[in-house]
Amino acid sequence: MKCKKCGNEMPEYRENHSSGYTCPKCGLGWATSYFEPYETDQTEYTIIIFGNDATKRNIRVVAEYANINYLQAKKLIEMPEATLFSGKAPEIIEKKKALIENNISFKITPDFTY
Ligand SMILES: [Zn+2]
Repeated sequence: MKCKKCGNEMPEYRENHSSGYTCPKCGLGWATSYFEPYETDQTEYTIIIFGNDATKRNIRVVAEYANINYLQAKKLIEMPEATLFSGKAPEIIEKKKALIENNISFKITPDFTY
């Protein structure tokens, strides 16, 4: 991208949800809001857990991320498939990371590509 005023090369920058160009020579520039694709995704995703052992550790993890008590979590784990959580992409990303860290088997519907 070349500066419209002086023709200098303008480097693109990206920070805190904005991206844009600033001319290092004359200061001309502009910024636009910038969001990661998952941040503007309005799809409601569902995390489904399946095939996990009802160990104390797994139960505790599931209780925490589904926001339910120990007994409810145990029941969920013992079901062939159970909905753990529904929400938008930013929340799903966080929970997905935590589930992977804790070795919980799960799937996400619809296909979650982030
Ligand atoms: Zn310039």
